[in-house]
Amino acid sequence: MMPHHAVTTAEATLAAVPEPIANTAVAAAVARARLAQRDWANRTPADRAKVLHRFHRVLYRRRHEVAALVTRESGKPLTDALGVDVFVALDAAKWTAGAAPRFLRKGSGWRQVSGLMFWRKRVRLDKKPLGVIGVIAPWNYPFFLPTACVLPALACGNAVVLKPSEFTPESAGVLESLFREAGLPDGVLQVVQGDGAVGAALVRAGVDKVIFTGSAAAGRKVAVSCAEQLIPCSLELGGSDAAIVLADADLQHAADGIVWTRFANAGQTCVAPKRVYVEAPAYEGFVAALARAVGDLRVGPGSDAATEVGPMIHPNAAALLTAQRDDAIARGATVAARASVSAVGAPYFAPTVLTDVSDDMRVMVEETFGPLLPVVRVSDADEAVRRANDSKFGLSASVWTRDRARGLAVARRLEAGTVLLNDATSVVGMPDVPYGGVKTSGLGRLHGEPGLEACVQSTPVVDDRFTSWRQPWWFHYDARHREMIEDFGRVAHGASVRERLRGVPGLIRLILTRKGTR
Ligand code: NAD
Repeated sequence: MMPHHAVTTAEATLAAVPEPIANTAVAAAVARARLAQRDWANRTPADRAKVLHRFHRVLYRRRHEVAALVTRESGKPLTDALGVDVFVALDAAKWTAGAAPRFLRKGSGWRQVSGLMFWRKRVRLDKKPLGVIGVIAPWNYPFFLPTACVLPALACGNAVVLKPSEFTPESAGVLESLFREAGLPDGVLQVVQGDGAVGAALVRAGVDKVIFTGSAAAGRKVAVSCAEQLIPCSLELGGSDAAIVLADADLQHAADGIVWTRFANAGQTCVAPKRVYVEAPAYEGFVAALARAVGDLRVGPGSDAATEVGPMIHPNAAALLTAQRDDAIARGATVAARASVSAVGAPYFAPTVLTDVSDDMRVMVEETFGPLLPVVRVSDADEAVRRANDSKFGLSASVWTRDRARGLAVARRLEAGTVLLNDATSVVGMPDVPYGGVKTSGLGRLHGEPGLEACVQSTPVVDDRFTSWRQPWWFHYDARHREMIEDFGRVAHGASVRERLRGVPGLIRLILTRKGTR
């Protein structure tokens, strides 16, 4: 049994959460994972997929227990905990269980190597697990995000040591029990609890790769540590996604969509619109629709069925957001809409829309991780694209329009890991769509085939069709050999058919003189 201590998070002081573990215990967990990984890797992909299928069934059965845990620790509405954290994780489990064996088989048959030089060669790919993967997770989707990283790692034959956020330890800790019930062998998935120091210790504990999700500040430290050890890492970091509302958009649809994607989860979503640029003819109508929708939001405790926006994770997060909002107001921004909040006893922040913002305000430059949304009037799409791209972040972006061709043209100019038309955020829940950021929003991709590829070492095995014919390029150099090599080049790369044909006799001689061992 782990010892427990108390922490203060969104809703209340939680009675008992696991005590952080010492660095030596982190190293011991990695060593144990390494032992357990050998047998796990030796199982067939189909065998491992069976465990994932069983995990899917166990999670569905225990869905309410997991959702309640997520709401208790994070403060988010139970609807979001169930509908987003749990159901999206179920989708990921189902997809990974089906796709991983197919992915691992791909390329495993022999194929001819290209290029005349290698006419004797054939190759197949072995997709080997990396070994032990360290997964470090944030608190905002405390069940889904770690699950989405753990699933492909396990399916590809790796062991995982997971360090959840110190603010939501049990929401991820429950994964161990779910996988145990699904029949995952002991030691293949272990959870180590603690804060950033424990995360840093895990990065240094002998893992073969780190999959980190969290802030750019912590991600940068993880990347430096991985670079020093020459181990790979993938980084899913913060964002300040732009939403561009074109003049022809369905303004009610755009307002409703942007309100959900920005204010759900109390605005604490990495991949969400955090700056909105609206073409001038649509500006007034859009802001009016947005203000109505924000004014209607119901803010309160996550356990209340009617709550749409819960509290923020902890008082410091609310204080940071307040400072960002006040900086904007002090520099001339207008509060265009604000939801009312009567709930008390937790760090509630009233959902707020700001207008009259300028590009140098903190809300435009920094990531705002809470229910606050600046809206900017632009003269046209060109200005919107220019200002949207003028950011150090590039997680995702969205374009809202009825004109698909124009929307697509704008989308293709945006510097972002993903662009969505007439929606935002949802890409992170699509298990088969590669997900990740550009610029300071991240490195590497999760989900889809790239997410599986990130969990293996693709090892080509190259075979020669002849077991004792010397290669044409091996030693025994002389003038004749050089002429034959020249002929070889003629056949492979000659500028005309005539030149290529000229090389054929020499090429044949080259092949035949190398028959045999000398
Ligand atoms: P955070 O960076 O403070 O913490 C994330 C995790 O890293 C936690 O488990 C923490 O304990 C650990 N950590 C902190 N310092 C560390 C260090 N030096 N070495 C190793 N581990 C360390 O982030 P957070 O507050 O938990 O989450 C919010 C941030 O995460 C936001 O910026 C958000 O945009 C980002 N995020 C990104 C994605 C994405 O998919 N791109 C998803 C969710 C959240």
